[in-house]
Amino acid sequence: MGIIERISGPLVVANDMLGSRMYDVVKVGKQGLIGEIIQLRGEKAVIQVYEDTTGMSPGEPVASTGVPLSVELGPGILGNIYDGIQRPLEILREKTGAFIGKGVAAEAIDRKRRWKFVVEKGIKNGALVKPGEILGYVQETGQLKHYIMVPAGVEGKISGLKDGTFAADQTIAKVTNGTRVTPLTMIQKRSVRKGSAYKNKFRSDEPLITGQRVIDTFFPVAKGGSAAVPGPFGAGKTIIQQQIAKFSDADIVLYVGCGERGNEMTDVLVEFPELMDPKTKRPLMERTVLIANTSNMPVAAREASIYTGITIAEYFRDMGYNVALMADSTSRWAEAMREISARLEEMPGEEGYPAYLPKRLAEYYERSGKCESLNGKIGSVTIIGAVSPAGGDLSEPVSQGTLRVVKAFWSLDAGLASARHFPSVNWLSSYSLYLDSIRDWYTKEVGDSFISNRASAMTLLQREAELKDIVQLVGADALPDSEKVILEIGRMIREDFLRQNAYDEVDTYTSIKKQGLMIGTILHFKANADEAIKAQIEADKIVKMKVREQIARLKEINEADYEKADRKVREDIDAEFRSLMKEYRASQEIEKA
Ligand code: ADP
Ligand code: MG
Repeated sequence: MGIIERISGPLVVANDMLGSRMYDVVKVGKQGLIGEIIQLRGEKAVIQVYEDTTGMSPGEPVASTGVPLSVELGPGILGNIYDGIQRPLEILREKTGAFIGKGVAAEAIDRKRRWKFVVEKGIKNGALVKPGEILGYVQETGQLKHYIMVPAGVEGKISGLKDGTFAADQTIAKVTNGTRVTPLTMIQKRSVRKGSAYKNKFRSDEPLITGQRVIDTFFPVAKGGSAAVPGPFGAGKTIIQQQIAKFSDADIVLYVGCGERGNEMTDVLVEFPELMDPKTKRPLMERTVLIANTSNMPVAAREASIYTGITIAEYFRDMGYNVALMADSTSRWAEAMREISARLEEMPGEEGYPAYLPKRLAEYYERSGKCESLNGKIGSVTIIGAVSPAGGDLSEPVSQGTLRVVKAFWSLDAGLASARHFPSVNWLSSYSLYLDSIRDWYTKEVGDSFISNRASAMTLLQREAELKDIVQLVGADALPDSEKVILEIGRMIREDFLRQNAYDEVDTYTSIKKQGLMIGTILHFKANADEAIKAQIEADKIVKMKVREQIARLKEINEADYEKADRKVREDIDAEFRSLMKEYRASQEIEKA
C-alpha cells in the first residue's frame, strides 16, 4: 500500500511502493481510479492514471493489484463497445449515467450469458496440452466459432474436459503439472504491452479487400500488413477507416476511436449496430469490437485504448482469423505520450515528442502480420492507422515515424477534399509496397489482365498530371491529339473510377471483380481512341462521344447486374467508334470527289 505524494494531471507519484513492478495496475486514491505504473524510482512509483484525477489529494492511498494492464478475452467479446481500459460503455452507463463516474469496475466479459461449449475433436482427457492449443469452441455468433485456447504459461495434463453449457467464467477443464493444478475457464487474460507468442510470421500474400476502388486497385494493403492514412482535418480519414471497418473482408474488425471528437464516435456507435455485413447479411457488430476513447476522456487512456485494441486483435488472429484494426487517430495517442513525457520531465525530442516515439510506433505496427499461431492456425492482423498532422504537413514526427514502418500509404489531399473528390487519396503521392507479394492473388482471383491494367491506368494518371502542367503553360490547343486523348482518359479514371461516394448505396462498396471490369472498360475506350487517332479522327470528336456518359454511370450499377451492363457498354464503345470512323471516311470521300 502506497501514499500519493504528488499529482500532475494524469500522472501521480506515489511513495512507499516498494515491491511493485513496472506496468502493474494500481488503484489510486480513495476512489480507486485505475492506473498503471510507468516508472519506478526507489520506493517511488510514477503512475499513469486512466481516469480523471481532479479532486484527488496527496496522502490518499495507492494499492497495487500485482498484475499488469491486461484485457479479458473470451466468448461475448464481439459486438462490445468498450472504453480505453476495456470497460463496456453500456455497463458504465447503467452504473453511473451518461457521464462516466470514477473508479467504476465493470467486467469486460459478460458472466451471466451461457455458452454451448464443444470439445475439439482429437483432444482427450489425459493428454498433454500446451499454451495456445485449442480445447474446443463456442459458436459465438452465427458466423464465428470462438475457439477456447490454453492460456500462456499453462502446460500439463488436461482433465475434466467435456461438452456442456457454461458461463464464460466457469471451469471447463483442469490442467495438472506436478502438484500444480490450474482450473481453466473460457476467459483468459493477456497483458497488453507485449505481442502474443506465435510460431511463424509470413510474408503477406493476399490483399485485404476493402471495396474502396482507389485502395484495392491502386494502393492495396495486404492481410497482415499495415497502412497509414495521413491527412489534414476534414480530408476523409475517419470516413475511409469506417468504410474499411464496414466493408473489408476481414473476419473481425477492431475499431479504436482514439482522442477524436466524441460526436464522430457517436456516429459510429449509432450507425454500426444498424448495419449489415454485405457478404453474410448479418449484423456488422457480430464481427466488430469498438473501443471508444474520445477527446473528452482522460488523455492517458488513449494509450491504453490503442493497446487494448491490438491485444484483442491478436487473440482472434491466434484462432486463425483475419483481423483488421483501425486506429483513429494515432496522432492523438502520440500527443498523449508527449503530454505524459513532459510531465515526467523527460528530455524532449523533436517537436516535444519523447525520443522513444519512433520506437513505440514501430513496435506497435510490428504487431501486425500474418502468423502461424502456437496451435498451427494461420491468421492475420492488419493495422490501419490514421495520422492527423497539423496543417497536413507530413514532415512532423508522428507522420515520419509512421511512414518508416508502414508499407501502404494513403495520402489524403486537402485540395481534392475541397474539390469534393472523395476518397481524397492522392494517386501521385500514395503508394503500396504490397503489390509484388499479392500480384499472384490478383491474377488468380480477378484475372490475367488486372495487374497490367492497373499499371497502364497508373501510367495514364501520371501522364495526365505531366500534361496538365504543360497545358498550364501553353494551353490545351498546343497538345497533339494523342495527348488530348490522354487528358480525357485521365479524367475518366479520376472521376469515373477513383471518386467513390461513401453515402451512395451502390457506390459505397465495389467488389474487386467489378473494379477490374471498370478499369478494363476505360482502357477499352482508350484502345479504341488510340486506333481512331491513328486513323486521323480528331480528339475533339472523341472527347464528345456519348458513350462516355455510360462509362461514368458504371459505378452506379449494382453488383448483380454489373457484368452484363459492362459488356453492353464495351459493345456500345465499339459501335460508337465504328460510326465515328464511318462518318470520317464518308467525309473523306466527299472531299476527294
Ligand atoms: P477527417 O477524419 O480527415 O477529419 P472525415 O472522415 O470526417 O475527415 O471527412 C470529412 C467529410 O468529408 C465527411 O463528413 C464527408 O462529408 C466527406 N467525405 C469524406 N470521405 C467521403 C467519401 N468517400 N464520400 C463522400 N463524402 C466523403
Ligand atoms: Mg476524423
